[in-house]
Amino acid sequence: MSKYLIKGAAVLGGESADLLIVDGRFAPLEESQGATEISAEGLVALPGLVDLHTHLREPGREDAETVLTGSQAAAKGGFTAVHAMANSMPVADTAGVVEQVYRLGQEAGWTEVRPVGAVTVGLAGQRLAELGAMADSRARVRLFSDDGMCVWDPVLMRRALEYVKAFDGVVAQHAQEPRLTEGAQMNEGAVSAVLGLQGWPAVAEESIIARDVLLAQHVDSRLHVCHVSTAGSVEIIRWAKARGVKVTAEVTPHHLLLTDELVRSYDPVFKVNPPLRTSEDVQALRLALADGTIDVVGTDHAPHPSEAKECEWAQAAMGMTGLETALSVVQHTMVETGLMSWQQVAKVTSQTPARIGQLPWQGGSLSIGESAHLVLLDPAARWTVDPKAMATKGRNSPFAGLELPGRVIATFLNGHPTVLDGELNTPAQPVDAAASGGR
Ligand SMILES: [Zn+2]
Repeated sequence: MSKYLIKGAAVLGGESADLLIVDGRFAPLEESQGATEISAEGLVALPGLVDLHTHLREPGREDAETVLTGSQAAAKGGFTAVHAMANSMPVADTAGVVEQVYRLGQEAGWTEVRPVGAVTVGLAGQRLAELGAMADSRARVRLFSDDGMCVWDPVLMRRALEYVKAFDGVVAQHAQEPRLTEGAQMNEGAVSAVLGLQGWPAVAEESIIARDVLLAQHVDSRLHVCHVSTAGSVEIIRWAKARGVKVTAEVTPHHLLLTDELVRSYDPVFKVNPPLRTSEDVQALRLALADGTIDVVGTDHAPHPSEAKECEWAQAAMGMTGLETALSVVQHTMVETGLMSWQQVAKVTSQTPARIGQLPWQGGSLSIGESAHLVLLDPAARWTVDPKAMATKGRNSPFAGLELPGRVIATFLNGHPTVLDGELNTPAQPVDAAASGGR
């Protein structure tokens, strides 16, 4: 029997209280005899974070990341579940590949790894992948995305939206009109004009989102918009939600903080898809996350080997790491600005993503009887981001050298401490939560 008594944590940022975990679940304090005590004075207790958007790179790009290193990074960042995007090599477009990723996650034991299934075979945008077979597989896929590529063909997008209704799945779109972004290197605007770099217009994102919310309404299905990056996209999503469209949306930590001004340095660490936008966009995204127009924070953690980033801007790969800095950036941009309470942070980083991903055992409220997935955060801590000190293989953090608030002190996965004193502890025993039917 394992028993942990967490003493004096501010539960969801509120009153300080003790939390007892017995055999993986929160239990009444009367049963605390013999428990290992963990002092949590001054720490905030949140449900374990759930990421809908992680690139774990395995199979195929183990030089960039593996399921093991990516899930260790997730644990250090406070995550108890991540959704592994399908753009591996081979692409996760069959039951075989999603089951492989799922099994690797179980074996690693640092966080729950939920594979995302590709919408189209090979992400090629030509024909639908085996969505039903992936949904019925042991990996129990509910989120489908060609992320990295846009499902451009409106007929395929419509079919995918119709198909996933059978198992209450969701199609997560990487909204990027391909013709409008051919050769694009950064946000189209004043900075791109000065630098002479090919621009990436906001309308390339907004036009796809506008089309997709109408398609989702037409077939009455669930659409999730990945990494929203412009103020105009926010307006379209707000309009769609007001009309009752079943759309959810995500914003990345980097789009909540960074702007295209950083591209003036020509440092490829700031090259990302969708690109960093303007300060007006950043402000609109923060307000949209606070008012619920944007539902969740998704990291879009995208590790790359150094050679893919330490080169000229035009040749550099797009993407940034994010698992180990996400909660700190959310504290910095949303909590310390007064836009959000910790209770709202729990909603956008854990409870709502768990609902979208159909993981009812994740994203709880730290109540008795629930599976004990939780993170303890020291909100008073300050730290300077050092990519070399991270668990991810990727060194491409855009926050390197920046001082951020908030440190993850402990992460509990199914009642097991995967992180203690801010360092990796030991992995948890595999638990097939879906198979055991658990909350
Ligand atoms: Zn994407």
